[in-house]
Amino acid sequence: MQDANDPSRTPAGASSPASFDDRASRDGPNGRLLFQTEVFSGRKPVSIRQAAHEFLEEPARSTPVMRHTDVLVVGGGPAGTAAAVSAARLGADVTLVERYNHLGGLATGGLVIWIDRMSDWQGRRVIEGFAADVLDRLPGDEIAGPPRGEWGSRDPARAAYWQQRTAAFHGVVTHSPTLNPEWLKGVSQQMLRESGAHLLLHATAVAPWMQGPAVRGAVFESKEGRFAIRAHVVVDASGDGDLFARAGARFEDDIAEDDIHHCMNTAWLFGGVDMLRWIAFRQGDPDGFAAFMAKGREAIGLFERPFVSWRNDVALFMGPRQSGLSALDVEHMTAVEVRSRDLMGAHLAFFRAHAPGFGNAYLIHSAPQLGVRHTRRLLGVSPVHRDQWRSGEPLPDEIGISPSLSPAFPSISVPYGCLVPRALDGLLAPGRHLACDPNSHSFMREIPQCWLTGQAAGVAAALAACRQIEPRAVDVTQLQQALRKQGALLRMASDPPEAPDAPANR
Ligand SMILES: Cc1cc2nc3c(=O)[nH]c(=O)nc-3n(C[C@H](O)[C@H](O)[C@H](O)COP(=O)(O)OP(=O)(O)OC[C@H]3O[C@@H](n4cnc5c(N)ncnc54)[C@H](O)[C@@H]3O)c2cc1C
Repeated sequence: MQDANDPSRTPAGASSPASFDDRASRDGPNGRLLFQTEVFSGRKPVSIRQAAHEFLEEPARSTPVMRHTDVLVVGGGPAGTAAAVSAARLGADVTLVERYNHLGGLATGGLVIWIDRMSDWQGRRVIEGFAADVLDRLPGDEIAGPPRGEWGSRDPARAAYWQQRTAAFHGVVTHSPTLNPEWLKGVSQQMLRESGAHLLLHATAVAPWMQGPAVRGAVFESKEGRFAIRAHVVVDASGDGDLFARAGARFEDDIAEDDIHHCMNTAWLFGGVDMLRWIAFRQGDPDGFAAFMAKGREAIGLFERPFVSWRNDVALFMGPRQSGLSALDVEHMTAVEVRSRDLMGAHLAFFRAHAPGFGNAYLIHSAPQLGVRHTRRLLGVSPVHRDQWRSGEPLPDEIGISPSLSPAFPSISVPYGCLVPRALDGLLAPGRHLACDPNSHSFMREIPQCWLTGQAAGVAAALAACRQIEPRAVDVTQLQQALRKQGALLRMASDPPEAPDAPANR
């Protein structure tokens, strides 16, 4: 049974969704969904937390103001990094604050090293700008995927080859590489430094700094205690809407127990493997592979198959996926971490014993960041919505273009309004908590789309700070022009009908 929110329930003629985890949840060419059997269906663990009948009254305190800045970015994931670099490139004074010790968010710390599709069905890279910059800066041996000339190829042999290597979907070769997360951390950090943005690690935003109805900064907790940073615009790039939620903006936080988009897991990497041998087994012996998977499920229960990485000797495991849990509940988050690590050990033993190419496998690393697909989604001025999937027409406030879920749809116009809260001022919300419906979330939360919306938020925040206006008052034409100057691909009302940069499948 599929959930009503399952994006594979697309309008007539559409085929299945495109995200990595969606592909991972399919069994065979017909795309049979396995949500019910593969995810943890034990449902919510019993909470050991006491019901909050008792409260501690904390004394009022004076919090030191550490900095004044034009643009404060909270969170250094794909969205936050793109926002900070793009705002600073326009000359704004920018401060990025991240709670962990690195940039990249889930793309590095979550080991989500499979960057989903940036090309359309004709093979044109439709997500450009920061996203293209960051990938193009990675050394050739730290990123793997088809060469540009193959993007969009429908040659069955090439598609079959890349299908096993993260880079073909619906029979089309795609630009969706895998990469070394350590290099992505380094390149993101280098780009931030070059932009002139100020970086603060090891500090967690705990509250917005409100001035009337507007957010004008944030309060942080850190090893040195509590401090505040004042800003004209705050970019909430926490992924979980930590700041907009606490500032009172409205949001959606649905959890569908049998929908992949709400599953959590801790990912891991095995080294010492031979993925070529594994692929040969998987492709060359379908019955043997099916028997292997059945045996794995029988032995372990929640059983996950590996994906290729940027190296033949490293395998990526992005699961097992655990559903019906909230990443805003620390008991649930703890349960997922503990269960994932137990499963990791069980997988290592099973794969060593039974999987071709895994005889010498060893555990390299488990993700320091919990794999969270969804917590909150902003209720924004103009959400990305599945009603617009068929049109292909650029929205008037287009900030970029997303590849669509299947060849049945043209590329999707991403509006500025999906970053802007309906009422709250002083804040923009790019990344996986942006405003969209659950179906559109399946692609709008992907890493390239987070780079795209992060870049747009950063540019808009810099323009708002420069003119001392609210983000919602930013002139859309100026925003679009500034984004184009930074290499973003988008369509403007003033473009001639046959603009050379109009996406090929429009
Ligand atoms: C299991 C799984 C599989 C996925 N598969 C793919 C895939 O194949 N391809 C793909 O492209 N995408 C995939 N995704 C989606 C993608 O990884 C994320 O949606 C994307 O990384 C979100 O980027 P973001 O910047 O919005 O948020 P995040 O990557 O979550 O970054 C948010 C950052 O903010 C920091 N932060 C959070 N709260 C605070 C705070 N209060 N104070 C300070 N810092 C804070 C965090 O530490 C983090 O660094 C997958 C996700 C998961 C979980």
